[in-house]
Amino acid sequence: MSERKAINKYYPPDYDPSKVVKKKKNSNQTIKIRMMAPYSMRCTRCNEYIAERRSFNARKEVTGERYLNIKIVRFYITCPGCNNTITFKTNPAEAGYTPEEGAVRNFEKKRKQETDLLKRLEKEEEEDKKYQLLRKKRKNNPFWKEQDETGGDVMEKFEKRLIEQQRQQELTDELEAIQQQVDKEKNEDALTKLLEEEKEKEDEDKSAPVKPTPTPSSTQPPPLKIPSKIIVRKKTPLNLDYSSDSD
Ligand SMILES: [Zn+2]
Repeated sequence: MSERKAINKYYPPDYDPSKVVKKKKNSNQTIKIRMMAPYSMRCTRCNEYIAERRSFNARKEVTGERYLNIKIVRFYITCPGCNNTITFKTNPAEAGYTPEEGAVRNFEKKRKQETDLLKRLEKEEEEDKKYQLLRKKRKNNPFWKEQDETGGDVMEKFEKRLIEQQRQQELTDELEAIQQQVDKEKNEDALTKLLEEEKEKEDEDKSAPVKPTPTPSSTQPPPLKIPSKIIVRKKTPLNLDYSSDSD
């Protein structure tokens, strides 16, 4: 029975594998795949809107282009409205896709903030490098001066800017300290007020000799005062009359 299920093939004794014609592999071949639209788009021929994540039977083709040794892939889909071929490529630089033909993106995602940050960082680094270079030059020759376009000394300008930055930092630190102080004082005031109110309430309740109220400036609660004479008041017994309830 097991012979029937065998998966190995029979090779006759005169079999020569070198004589077998090899199939040529086409590197430019496109593969049929099932994919989803990576972004919402609009067909340029029939104005049909194609939503993001709509499924398509697509063709995938590896292009010759590369970004940092990453292969760029092109996809072909057909518009469900007019059978127009829509193509788009992967974009490894931005971790996304770039539309090519047949359709346009409905909106661009925001990438501005990141690029802005990068640009700013680059600029700062450049300035820092410039400053270090100037400092080196100045060290070698204390009377060396570089004139900028307005005629002022570049070194002075840099130093001024540095001082300004430091001053701003100090100012913000001071502001924070003041804010913290204010918050703390507010909390303390609230605490003393609360304590006072409680004291007053107790006094009213007991109608005991008036205790000195704590001064508002003092932050710590006053020490507890134990009265020399403790009066124990007897509770009046409850007059429970069950006569009406009793049978
Ligand atoms: Zn269309």
